[in-house]
Amino acid sequence: MTKNFSYQLLGENLGRHPVFLFDFDGTLAEIALTPDEVNFKPITKYLIEKIAGSLPVGIISGRMLGDLKKLVGINGIFYSGNHGIEIEGPGLHFIEPASSESINLMAELLKELKQKLSRYKCLIEDKKYSISIHYRTIDPKRVNDLLFDVSRILEKPLNRKEIKILNGKKVVEVKPPVEWNKGKGVEIIMRHLKNVDTPVFFGDDLTDEDAFETVNLLNGVSALIGNERSSTKAKFKLGSTHELTGLLARFISENLE
Ligand SMILES: [Mg+2]
Repeated sequence: MTKNFSYQLLGENLGRHPVFLFDFDGTLAEIALTPDEVNFKPITKYLIEKIAGSLPVGIISGRMLGDLKKLVGINGIFYSGNHGIEIEGPGLHFIEPASSESINLMAELLKELKQKLSRYKCLIEDKKYSISIHYRTIDPKRVNDLLFDVSRILEKPLNRKEIKILNGKKVVEVKPPVEWNKGKGVEIIMRHLKNVDTPVFFGDDLTDEDAFETVNLLNGVSALIGNERSSTKAKFKLGSTHELTGLLARFISENLE
């Protein structure tokens, strides 16, 4: 059973040297209609900066690394884009090697998807190593048709095992066919940091489950944001991004000031 998270539970489960890791969309910022419209609130940025002044911090997102860094705009923290494929931070620069081989195929698929799906007006995001097809903005009645067309376009490369498909919140992700995910991203950051004992990870979506699993194996603290999903590997649950900022504010005022 996933317990409701609280400040007390955070304290009870935290070692002496924690690292705070976060997903971005739906975790540090409310999910917006389109990725470009996301609002990373100044208060959240302030809290993250404050924690990063004393402890290692990382943000692990499905967004492209460059996009994520620009949106967050905090120096000296770890950033991971494309679900762990790209990672950058103090003394760390990592790109999952096999993913680079998919760049040309992704460019071809991007062109085809944009051409064949233009009538839906969905947002097709080029993330270099992967493609996201966002359908939050389209008429719900057309979603099934869209998903059918997407599956037809991706059928061949999928059967040839040239790509993998991941479903998130109103998004289909086309990814390189590698065994790589946010959990591996957590591992890379943990191995790099060496002297941390407790990974703490907050995430809201299916793609965060791999990170929850890794964090649990490392005896860390995993927490799911939101009440939409009942089944999760996260040890704890928090109702909203708003509750998360409240928890972080209290953690800072009682531990870091
Ligand atoms: Mg998310």
